[in-house]
Amino acid sequence: MSRYSRQELFAAIGPEGQRRIRASRVLLVGCGALGTHLAEFCVRAGVGGLTIVDRDIVEFCNLQRQSLFTEDDARAALPKAEAARRALAGVNSDVEIRAEVSDFNFRNAEKLAHGASIILDASDNFETRFLINDLAVKHGLPWVYAGCVSAKATCMPVLPGRTACLTCLLEDQPAAGGETCDTTGVIMPAVLQAVAWSSVVALKIMSGNAAALFCKMLTVDLWSGERTGIDASRPRADCPHLRRKTVPLAGRQTRQQVRRALRPRQRADQPARRL
Ligand SMILES: [Zn+2]
Repeated sequence: MSRYSRQELFAAIGPEGQRRIRASRVLLVGCGALGTHLAEFCVRAGVGGLTIVDRDIVEFCNLQRQSLFTEDDARAALPKAEAARRALAGVNSDVEIRAEVSDFNFRNAEKLAHGASIILDASDNFETRFLINDLAVKHGLPWVYAGCVSAKATCMPVLPGRTACLTCLLEDQPAAGGETCDTTGVIMPAVLQAVAWSSVVALKIMSGNAAALFCKMLTVDLWSGERTGIDASRPRADCPHLRRKTVPLAGRQTRQQVRRALRPRQRADQPARRL
C-alpha cells in the first residue's frame, strides 16, 4: 500500500492529483501556529519541495498551539524554521525541506519565491500579507491567505487575474479590526480551522482542482458560531494590479500610498453577508 493511498482514493485527487501535488513546490511564510501545522500538512501530503521562512526562535509560550516544537527546542532557543525542518525530516524524506531563518521582506521575497508554485501565508501581520500579494500577482503565483486570532479563523484563496487579490478586498487594516494574537490571544481550535481551510485550498490548487475553489474571504468565530463570507470570485475592476499589470515590490510607505489611492469597495471590518 503506497504512502498516499488514502489521499489518492479521494476521488477528486486520485493518482494524477497526487503526481501534481508531488510536482508542487511550496513557499511557506511563517512558522508559528499556522505555519507548523501547514508545514506538516505539506510534508505528509507529499509535496516536492517546501521552503519554510521564519526569523523567530522557539519559546515556551509557543508550545500551547504550535505543533512540531518541543521543550528541548525552546530550551535550546532553536530557530523555528530549523526546528520544524528537523521535526519533519523524519516524517517524509522524499520532500526537499529548506529552512530559511530570516525575515520575509521586499529584499529577499523574489529570491525566496524562485521556483515556488504556490505561496502559503502563515504570517501574523498584514504588511507581510500585502508583500506576498504583490509578489504573487507579479509572478502569477497562487497564494492562500490564512489568519487566526482569539477564536476567529479567516482564509481566502488568491488566483492572480482570476479571483480577487488581497488589495481588491482590503486596505491596510487587519480583517479582525486590529486584534492580534499578542493582544487578544488565540485558541487552538481557531488555528486548526484556519489550517483546515488553507490546507484544502492548497490541496485543490496543487492537485489540479482549482475550478472547485470556494472563492470567498471566509471568517468564522468558533466561540460565537458567527460566520461571514465576502465574495472574492472576481478581481476588482480598479485594482492597481490590473491597471498596471504589476505593482513593484516596495517598502511600507510606497505600498500604503498605492492602497490609499484605491477607492475601497468593501472592507473586511464592514458587515459582510452571512453564509
Ligand atoms: Zn486585486
